[in-house]
Amino acid sequence: MIFLKTQDEIELLRQANLLVSATLAEIAKTIQPGVTTRQLDTLAETFIRDHGAEPTFKGFPNPYGSPFPASICTSVNHVVVHGIPDDEPLRDGDIVSVDCGTHLNGFCGDSCYTFCVGEVKPEVRELLRTTKESLYKGIEAAITGHRLGDIGHAVQTHCENAGYGVVREFVGHGIGRDMHEEPQVPNYGRQGTGKTIKNGLCIAIEPMITLGTHELAMLPDRWGVVTRDHQPAAHFEHTIAIHHGKADILSSFKEIEEIERQKQ
Ligand code: MG
Ligand code: MG
Repeated sequence: MIFLKTQDEIELLRQANLLVSATLAEIAKTIQPGVTTRQLDTLAETFIRDHGAEPTFKGFPNPYGSPFPASICTSVNHVVVHGIPDDEPLRDGDIVSVDCGTHLNGFCGDSCYTFCVGEVKPEVRELLRTTKESLYKGIEAAITGHRLGDIGHAVQTHCENAGYGVVREFVGHGIGRDMHEEPQVPNYGRQGTGKTIKNGLCIAIEPMITLGTHELAMLPDRWGVVTRDHQPAAHFEHTIAIHHGKADILSSFKEIEEIERQKQ
């Protein structure tokens, strides 16, 4: 069942998402060669709890194994999603998708950003740029009267036209009091198919895009998912609400992008 949200609920959802965005901005300030993903996780958990929220991911159940042990997912290079933070120092040229979730005042935030560590190869930077663009193409397609297939179609065509792979096994989702609500929001699809987009619909759109094949394999920890050809993958995610007929983006990359500009 899809729970359409009231304006008051959307504002609560915005607060939870802006806290995710602020957390990701703290990571943007800190991430550099030599830093470990475990350090980023500690930073994120402290920041989230200091702001009166819970990190949604911590203890998240896994149908295949043990609950998620950390507050953020850190997926490095060929890890697509659900990477577990560890003590391996990040190296110059790495990319890291940091996915973060909060639970604040009864509502969930969920957003992801793929960061560059030091100097990243131009072809990988291009993958990141196109993946982020495809997120906004998907958001543009999220207007009342359109269907969910229009969102997936917009993401898929933008990325496939650039020669990239579109991950099928993991998709965006409804979001509200629960992090994962109906409907599923695939990053592929046909125009004019799927559920109709209505005011009050709140969803996370999250393209996961690969430089090579979109085929995946699971790591032995039963969380991390990698590309089968070990080529890099990018992942950008916003939570949006449909309001007055179009998308209101509840999370924000503004501060992250400002920090990235200052670093250049
Ligand atoms: Mg996420
Ligand atoms: Mg999500």
